[in-house]
Amino acid sequence: MLDITDTTETTNEIASETPPARTDLLGLTFTEMSEWVQGLGQPAFRARQLAGWIYQSLAPDFAAMRTLPAALREQLQRTATIEGPRVQAELAAKDGRTRKLLLELADGRRIETVLMLYPATSEGRARATVCVSTQAGCAYGCTFCATGQMGFDRHLSPGEIVAQVVYFARELRARPWQAPDGQTIDHITNLVFMGMGEPLHNYDNTLKALRILNMPEGLNIGARHMTVSTVGLVPGILRLAEEPLQVNLAISLHAPNDAMRLRTMPVTRKYPIAAVLDACRQYAARTNRQVTFEYVLLAGVNDQPEHARELATLLAPLRQLCHVNLIPVNATSASYRPPSGETIRIFRDELRAGGVSNSVRAERGDDIAAACGQLHTREARKHAAAE
Ligand code: SAH
Ligand code: SF4
Repeated sequence: MLDITDTTETTNEIASETPPARTDLLGLTFTEMSEWVQGLGQPAFRARQLAGWIYQSLAPDFAAMRTLPAALREQLQRTATIEGPRVQAELAAKDGRTRKLLLELADGRRIETVLMLYPATSEGRARATVCVSTQAGCAYGCTFCATGQMGFDRHLSPGEIVAQVVYFARELRARPWQAPDGQTIDHITNLVFMGMGEPLHNYDNTLKALRILNMPEGLNIGARHMTVSTVGLVPGILRLAEEPLQVNLAISLHAPNDAMRLRTMPVTRKYPIAAVLDACRQYAARTNRQVTFEYVLLAGVNDQPEHARELATLLAPLRQLCHVNLIPVNATSASYRPPSGETIRIFRDELRAGGVSNSVRAERGDDIAAACGQLHTREARKHAAAE
């Protein structure tokens, strides 16, 4: 039996001669930043100035923080950082609306982050959404997921999570996006925690990052504009329901019954679908939020009309509270293929006939392998080939 809760330990191997690590200011809440600044012997108002430079001015370094005394800037340079992980590669998709970063963490591990730009629709204004990673690798081993096939490396710190968003916030500020309707987007409007890793496996750091990204002294991104996607960790879902910060919840369901789900998602053994749906019901009741169910369509596996009917029956009790997002699989190294357009259309019709609202997620940045974990795998292969 897969026991993922036992793998949550991160090791902190700091050699005795290592100089003291600089404080990662991107990992601090405003209260913590105030305490830290006062610990340097500075008046409290400096924290507000500092946060203003980091998150409102989006300064790339301390040298740019002109209103801070030179001695303090020099002290910050020695004791703190706002750099975030090093950018190893940045790719822009041909669609011009998807950009992907491959980041190298301080310990050499690599993660990825994607920026997706969406024009305005009848449902809302134009958006700039960052897809954030929460772990290097992932412990849950879903068979269609490149990250899952890499295995689990470690949790990301709150600062490593926040830095991914700050990077694109700086980019958009420097080069705003002209949306087709004439709107100028110069800031991040939405976050989805759908990059590498399982956010609820790294619960505390993910929650802290959400708080930092939400705080008025930070990027001030509204909780309603944040979505946490989970493989279905029941205790984490229930815990999230009790948080004061109530974000949107997305569940990776991907099959209409346990037997089928188990074939692609080993986590099903630990948390069967019924338990996950029960947690969703509680989440929706507690937060008044709709829950999104993600359903990756795998040709010949879970894409038949009878699967759609079974899914509609399964979700019938939650019908008023949920929406299904159908995602044709992005073919990774695994041997899965997306269904044909016709198969997808029939699947949608069946679901709709069963009373379940649904949409098909548009393909994004296929040419830069923008799906979860794919760039990393491609780069890793290039490395392996070069060695
Ligand atoms: N671990 C979390 C969040 C990261 S994965 C989760 O599983 O929900 C984000 C989404 O990408 C999930 O719905 C996941 O199932 C989906 N995904 C993974 N591999 C994919 C692939 N090859 N094609 C399309 N979607 C994929
Ligand atoms: Fe992990 Fe999510 Fe990929 Fe599954 S789909 S292996 S939970 S990142």
